Amino acid sequence: MEKKKQAWIQSLQSVSEDLSEVEEPPSEPPGSGNSDPPAPRRSRPARPRPSARFPLNEKTNAFRRKYFPGVTVSQWNDWHWQVQNRLRTATALSRVLDLSQDERAALQRSSSRFPAAVTPYYASLLDGEDPLQPLRRSVIPVLDEFVPSPGEADDPLGEDHDSPVPGLVHRYPDRVLFLVTGFCSTYCRYCTRSRMVGHKGGHAGKKQWEKALAYIQETPSVRDVLISGGDPLTLSDDALEWLLQRLRAIRHVEFVRIGTKVPAVLPQRITGALVRLLRRHHPLWMSLHFTHPDELTPEARTACARLADAGIPLGSQTVLLKGINDDAATLKALYHGLLRCRVRPYYLYQCDPISGSAHFRTTVAKGLEIMEGLRGHTTGYAVPTYVIDAPGGGGKIPLLPDYAQGADGQDLVLRNYENRTFRYPGAFDRPSPAPSEPAPYRMAN
Ligand code: SF4
Repeated sequence: MEKKKQAWIQSLQSVSEDLSEVEEPPSEPPGSGNSDPPAPRRSRPARPRPSARFPLNEKTNAFRRKYFPGVTVSQWNDWHWQVQNRLRTATALSRVLDLSQDERAALQRSSSRFPAAVTPYYASLLDGEDPLQPLRRSVIPVLDEFVPSPGEADDPLGEDHDSPVPGLVHRYPDRVLFLVTGFCSTYCRYCTRSRMVGHKGGHAGKKQWEKALAYIQETPSVRDVLISGGDPLTLSDDALEWLLQRLRAIRHVEFVRIGTKVPAVLPQRITGALVRLLRRHHPLWMSLHFTHPDELTPEARTACARLADAGIPLGSQTVLLKGINDDAATLKALYHGLLRCRVRPYYLYQCDPISGSAHFRTTVAKGLEIMEGLRGHTTGYAVPTYVIDAPGGGGKIPLLPDYAQGADGQDLVLRNYENRTFRYPGAFDRPSPAPSEPAPYRMAN
């Protein structure tokens, strides 16, 4: 039994040296139950060698030489090494960052609430001196995280309420969210699921996966499964293969989506073996979590290119964050960069009101102002849909600046991105009784 458990731990993440009290992977393999699933392939003699051809940007290479002088390029480009050597404590992070008192105190407290972890690769992109650098703010905790504000909640989207079986959220009639792991290589401080990621007991085990698969199997209305977590791409190839095979074997599941931040924080994970595996399970779509243009390094661009070359349609998801990316120029740079990587900007999220998130949240007016700064000012493909995921479980509600000004007779009065007024004739069945007031605020369909 102990041997079996060890094999599974190795197979799942190959990070057994890194397993702590806080982060523990499932203890049993999916596939050992009664349903006779295809067995994960476990007889591979050795871990696949990291690609020597994977890029290493100049800044990151200088960081490697300075802080990890004994680590070869090949080791650095091995995603297992990156996960095993994540920086998780004040002591470890202070080796590479000049921590402020605020950050140091928050790191000492964060392990009990929402742990910190940063891959060495992502740490190489942080500014060692400036605690306000956008990327640094997104992954290094500060004491504001411990200050609750009115309206905040640990589960603001009410996901637990819409969960027919643990680890599965069924909110919309035809699709489900399958939370397959509570593990991420790097923890974003604004994480909507901080209540369940990075914690002991937050991982989906074999029994939980089987229950979720059984629910999907028994629910023919489910045609679309979004695999998320935690970060599903931190699972081993074997575990992913097993999961995708099981899902693709369900006839009414038309396609599968994967949500991940791996291309931004652990691009080395996008190996040749992984993309070959993924392309066996088309139609497969991916939502990539990017926050800031500084994440679009040669490494991240290579990861996206490999996924795109495997025929996976790529969309991006970005959370609007105060002082990090809350201006049109920053987001425009991010979206232009993503399009060059063949990633279509998909959603811009208003930051969810999770507990202790006030320091990250902008006003909605700011979000709308940014959308105005994008629409018409750049390629339509570079303009995502700005949404609020309604607190309490209302789902995603899109928001648009007020371009429709109201009715005049049978005409619809519109303004364009330059604030010039235009009319669309015959927009209404009958003349409006009087020129209407400009619409105060309009949501998109
Ligand atoms: S990658 Fe996603 S699940 Fe993981 S910490 Fe960031 S936001 Fe949360």
